[in-house]
Amino acid sequence: MRTLMKWQKILRESYADGREVAELLGLEGAEAERLQKIAEVYPVLTNSYYMSLIDRDDPEDPIRKMSIPSGWEMEDGGAEDTSGEASNTVLPGMQHKYRQTALILSTDLCAMYCRHCFRKRLVGLASGEAVGNIAEQAAYVQQHNEITNVLISGGDAFLNSNGRIEQYLQAFTAIDHLDFIRFGTRTPVVIPQRISEDGELQRLLMKYGREKQIYVVTQFNHPREVTPEAMEAVRALVACGVAVRNQTVLLAGVNDDPMVLADLLRRLTTINVQPYYIFQCRPVRGVHNHFQVPLLEGCRIVDAAKGLQNGQGKTVRYVMSHPTGKIEILGEIEPGRMLFKYHQAKHAEDAARIFGRTLGAEQTWLGEDEVVSDK
Ligand code: SF4
Repeated sequence: MRTLMKWQKILRESYADGREVAELLGLEGAEAERLQKIAEVYPVLTNSYYMSLIDRDDPEDPIRKMSIPSGWEMEDGGAEDTSGEASNTVLPGMQHKYRQTALILSTDLCAMYCRHCFRKRLVGLASGEAVGNIAEQAAYVQQHNEITNVLISGGDAFLNSNGRIEQYLQAFTAIDHLDFIRFGTRTPVVIPQRISEDGELQRLLMKYGREKQIYVVTQFNHPREVTPEAMEAVRALVACGVAVRNQTVLLAGVNDDPMVLADLLRRLTTINVQPYYIFQCRPVRGVHNHFQVPLLEGCRIVDAAKGLQNGQGKTVRYVMSHPTGKIEILGEIEPGRMLFKYHQAKHAEDAARIFGRTLGAEQTWLGEDEVVSDK
């Protein structure tokens, strides 16, 4: 029988039951029941490694907020698909929103179900959205010369088996007009052993990385996630020739503090992880009530955090992933008046378009009508 690696044991022994997680946190009675009820709607999954980062004496602990269900999740409001993913789907499990990029939902599994996930509609659920045929997806990319990169995401792309990861690498490294291949994975943050202890995965990344540049796009949201284990995983990726990029989500109660965000950005650049996006949290059902930060406040937080960085840390952009494109939140030009710019546009006429909007103090998102016409 094949011996399990440490990360496989951690994964196998993950906590997927609300009552079990409640017990580990010392919660009892109604609180434990409530946690279980939420888990029945939005699956819970965490593991001993990520749980070890929680300060159990602090009910407001940011690591806890990202991994343990909260009563807010059951409140009304929000939408399931806030960036129009259904309308961009061209094949089962494959989206083509931006000209140059094909996005693949390779699995609906993750090593942890983040409470703030914008794909809450599918992670850990058999939604059918993340099933796809690699040969058909590769054929689509082959036929579309305008596609220069593929983002293999999920769920978590590194929750696929190494065999499946190799199939993706084989299929896409063979396509001449692709410049690089990206994997979207939170494993460096939530189960870094998946990378640092799996020599087979490392060999695959090294082998195919010689043919086509490979990027790992991950999501560190808090400086306490940058542990020695996470640093080892990043070092292993870099040693394989992989470029590591980070997309942070701005989250109320987690990193909506300039000093926390500044610390995170600085730590990332220190360990060779380029922070390239700070995402405005989307108005997703089960997420928006407790995690979204108002845009005006978010902009002040991001600006203050960037003010404490050197040039590397300052390259990060504050953006929102809107159905019409990726919109950069440029800054407040007068009190309450914000300037935006399309960083990536779904429609050619929006490319690089700059527009201003007057925002309410509590406004956290732009409606579709607020981005189309000049106001
Ligand atoms: S790892 Fe990514 S896809 Fe999975 S739950 Fe977290 S944010 Fe969502």
